[in-house]
Amino acid sequence: MAPRTKGHSRLLTIAARVAKAHLHRVVQRVFPFLDDAFVDEVASHTVADTTIATSSKALTRDDYEVIMLIVLTTLFGLAVGSFLNVVIYRVPRHESVVSPRSACPVCAAPIRGFDNVPVLSWLLLRGRCRHCRSPISWRYPLVEATCAGLFAGAVARFGFTWVLPAYLVTLAGLLALGAIDLTQLVLPKVIVYYTLAIAGGLFLLATLMNHKWHQLLVAALYALLWFSVFYVMNLLNPRLLGFGDVRLAPLLGLSLGWLGVSYVALGFFVANLVGAVLGIVLIATKRIRRDQPIPYGTFLALGTAIALFAGPQLLSPFHGL
Ligand SMILES: [Zn+2]
Repeated sequence: MAPRTKGHSRLLTIAARVAKAHLHRVVQRVFPFLDDAFVDEVASHTVADTTIATSSKALTRDDYEVIMLIVLTTLFGLAVGSFLNVVIYRVPRHESVVSPRSACPVCAAPIRGFDNVPVLSWLLLRGRCRHCRSPISWRYPLVEATCAGLFAGAVARFGFTWVLPAYLVTLAGLLALGAIDLTQLVLPKVIVYYTLAIAGGLFLLATLMNHKWHQLLVAALYALLWFSVFYVMNLLNPRLLGFGDVRLAPLLGLSLGWLGVSYVALGFFVANLVGAVLGIVLIATKRIRRDQPIPYGTFLALGTAIALFAGPQLLSPFHGL
């Protein structure tokens, strides 16, 4: 039975309990060669409150509070997705993401708070501006819903662990970059650098809490390795690989390398597989020309996300080798 505490300390207690239960499973999946005692020790270092026992009984009041935390994370994802829409629209135009407030691009009427609720406002207004009735792109609610899905997925995948914030930042950055590259074939360096700096700081924070310095070192080495390989490829043939992809490489190497070398390989493989298959289909159906540039950054972001979420399932056949 969890001790009765109040306010945010109580939320932390619940988060710690869930984190402990999830972390054990995640660590065992990712590092199947580690023994149980070591995993237990890591879990107890990582989680703030180790005094709470985990239970596997039917849903209790605490479990409903955990569900509430997941709902809150999803709502947080919707809000972040709304901010990403501003980033995706303004950063390639070299505009500030802070001011001015959002306005309709057609009639310039400011968008009020009530009409700026993620997904819901777009549905209630049936995808049109309240003032001039000109259509608002379906891309806005799509980005918001995708961000919410990624955040909920990250909670399910990593639990309420110290590394969760690092992955939320990584996924939000990759979503913005993937969307911009897909539509405009650029990866704005300001987004790449901010994402890498914040995610890097959060991976360092997670390391300070769980003391697994070798894990951070391995992740940093894969960040450097991926960057070096892309740097040389760009040097040899800049038309084949743009420098935006070179800048993006450390973020991919860091977030996948934290989970292990097989995740780095999987992310890179999936990115190229999806890119190649889609490229062949689009060329065969004459939707694009053979010499047309492709949004490689979008495929790299997609491959990384797939490896992060589906890695344990996709890699399980190789674990016995
Ligand atoms: Zn309007």
